[in-house]
Amino acid sequence: MSSTSQAFQAPRGTYDILPTTAGTVLAVREALAAPLRRAGYGYVETPVFEDVNLFSRGVGESTDIVTKEMFTIATRSEESQRLALRPEATASVLRATLEANLHRTGNLPVKLWYSGAQYRYERPQKGRYRQFWQVGAEAIGAEDPALDAELIILADDAYRSLGLRNFRILLNSLGDKQCRPVYREALQNYLRGLDLDEETLRRAEINPLRVLDDKRASVQDQLGGAPMLVDFLCEDCKAYHEQVRELLTAAGVAFEDDPKLVRGLDYYTRTTFEFVHDGLGAQSAVGGGGRYDGLSEMIGGPELPSVGWALGVDRTVLALEAEGITLDIPATTDVYAVPMGEQARRVLFGLVTGLRRAGVSADLLFGGRGVKAGFKAADRSGARFAVVAGERDLADGVVQLKDLTSGDQTPVALDALVTTLKEKLQ
Ligand code: ATP
Ligand code: MG
Repeated sequence: MSSTSQAFQAPRGTYDILPTTAGTVLAVREALAAPLRRAGYGYVETPVFEDVNLFSRGVGESTDIVTKEMFTIATRSEESQRLALRPEATASVLRATLEANLHRTGNLPVKLWYSGAQYRYERPQKGRYRQFWQVGAEAIGAEDPALDAELIILADDAYRSLGLRNFRILLNSLGDKQCRPVYREALQNYLRGLDLDEETLRRAEINPLRVLDDKRASVQDQLGGAPMLVDFLCEDCKAYHEQVRELLTAAGVAFEDDPKLVRGLDYYTRTTFEFVHDGLGAQSAVGGGGRYDGLSEMIGGPELPSVGWALGVDRTVLALEAEGITLDIPATTDVYAVPMGEQARRVLFGLVTGLRRAGVSADLLFGGRGVKAGFKAADRSGARFAVVAGERDLADGVVQLKDLTSGDQTPVALDALVTTLKEKLQ
């Protein structure tokens, strides 16, 4: 992201994942996904672009994501459909489920997970990018508080497995189609009486709950007396929410009730939650999700009450940094071969190939450089062993095996190298 003299740079709001950090990024994706695999979630991949209407309907016309942040693609004229890069994956996963009839042919709920880049035209800052990564889960087609609790517990397990401790779970219920409209109207009446700018007043008409989420002090200061959804929840929603809370408590997962928690998407009903990390400053949400019982019908499907979450990979990596956690990433190369002379080059090339085929990660000094460069390269590679050989070693039928940690060097017969190394690396 620093300025360089070259002509091209990564586009604004994007960054490259390079080998130095890739180990951590891949390990985070893996750690976020592992609890899902153990809980019966199947992997899905959907296209990175979809019909723009899937998002405007499936995410919500009044959301920032749709009104401000969408990457719409200008397609060739024969395309009647307008496309957009996906800003999130829930609508896509549900679309894929409906299209393949997974909800008819398989068990309900259909449990799915994904991992991939999402795109939002945001103002870039630390922890907020135009291309970012999420690992997400959706449980489609069941209304059961145990399912909501399961997902929250799995996300909590995922963060904890990385060693993260400095995060909190915020929990709320957004009600359902019975009780939310009543609350919505009460809130709207309250908001109409406030001193708000025109855009916020417009938002109050379209999606008043979103105003509660406004971060500006000028707005927040006026919300002290706003009616709260908890006071409007119907008996069904109240009982449902109480069960989710009890199941979390029984599982030893601590949470905070946050009656003002609403999320950026229109489709949420009942359970809503967010994972916030206290070491990240303004971009503190590392993940979030909730129940979206009406979404399937909004995109033309049958009634399929569902719940899901998306965890931000980029911010989880930042959270690890904030807590000073370094993951134990195995070195990519265990063995580095340093040939001395042309004949040794050919022999070691063969040995390295053999090691790799035997499952040992090995690399070789390329470019015809000398021994000194070879040892420097071996050190940089992070390898534990160097294999060195010159004409004389080969005449004796051996290579020199050097332990790069202790510095010890021993001759090893050519045909014993693979087994010797496999033993030592165990
Ligand atoms: P925020 O309030 O920070 O804008 P959001 O409500 O838009 O977050 P969601 O749509 O719920 O976020 O996405 C789930 C997670 O994805 C977030 O908790 C966050 O970790 C991550 N995320 C969302 N937008 C970005 C972004 N632009 N850059 C990096 N990570 C993001
Ligand atoms: Mg956002």
